[in-house]
Amino acid sequence: MTEWIEENYKEGLSFRLGLKKLLFREQSPYQKVEVFESSHHGRVLLNDGAFMLSERDERIYHEMMAHVPLSVHTNPRRVLIIGGGDGGTAREVLKHTKVEKCTLVEIDQLVVDACRKYIPQTATVFDDSRMNLVIGDGVSFVRDSREVFDIILIDSTDPNGAAEPLFGEEFYTNISHRLAMDGIVIAQGESPFYEADTQARLLQIANPHFDWVTMYNFTNMTYPGGLWSFLWASRGRHPLRDMHHVKVSGCTYYNSEIHWAAFALPEAQRQNLSKWTKI
Ligand code: SAM
Repeated sequence: MTEWIEENYKEGLSFRLGLKKLLFREQSPYQKVEVFESSHHGRVLLNDGAFMLSERDERIYHEMMAHVPLSVHTNPRRVLIIGGGDGGTAREVLKHTKVEKCTLVEIDQLVVDACRKYIPQTATVFDDSRMNLVIGDGVSFVRDSREVFDIILIDSTDPNGAAEPLFGEEFYTNISHRLAMDGIVIAQGESPFYEADTQARLLQIANPHFDWVTMYNFTNMTYPGGLWSFLWASRGRHPLRDMHHVKVSGCTYYNSEIHWAAFALPEAQRQNLSKWTKI
């Protein structure tokens, strides 16, 4: 009899993988953090029962979050990641030699510790000398910091609990103060099928602060619906016209053609977002 690792995404809608072994389970002040060995997808990280990553497909998400903006910005020296405590996005960011410092603000030390121990595929990046790991709340960080960043990547969980304000108006006002005049913001943008309202709201909130605002899509096998989105919001730099053909080593998904294709949205999503899109 197969035992399952199951994410109950909504009432009557779940995604599951065969369970081989439970490797780690602990409750932090913020969430339950679990690492399992799964069938077909290697090790998987779940926060509060929701799949964060699997070893098999994490590169897709992390490459698309990092290389799309880093192939547009010509001088990305200072990068800020909010969330992303597994290290996967930072690993991809630091493949770019122009990046001098990558500050990662993760609220939950337990996520970092669990990934360091059980998912080195993403977490070995924390030993890189350009990493500046801050354990704290990303909301307070962008409110209180006086630093300015070339690229800001919001690699957050779904908009619940501590992550809820990361999808709010005040956060985007503060993000706009932390972003350089020619900077780029990317944010985890949820499912175009199941979270159309959340996507429209996110674009509406980002719209007044940036010159170019849209979503781009990518495949993710372990997220509900299989197709997922990132918010693109930038000043000055256009996501397609300013793309230069950067060759990034060791990519499994990202390339120049995928960069272009990702911004072609399915018709229903395009119409849903059209009022707030600037592209
Ligand atoms: N790719 C993932 C996804 O969408 O499922 C996101 C992965 S990463 C593990 C998300 C991280 O955001 C979590 O570890 C969580 O602790 C962190 N997080 C949530 N709210 C936060 C906040 N307010 N400040 C900083 N980090 C936060």
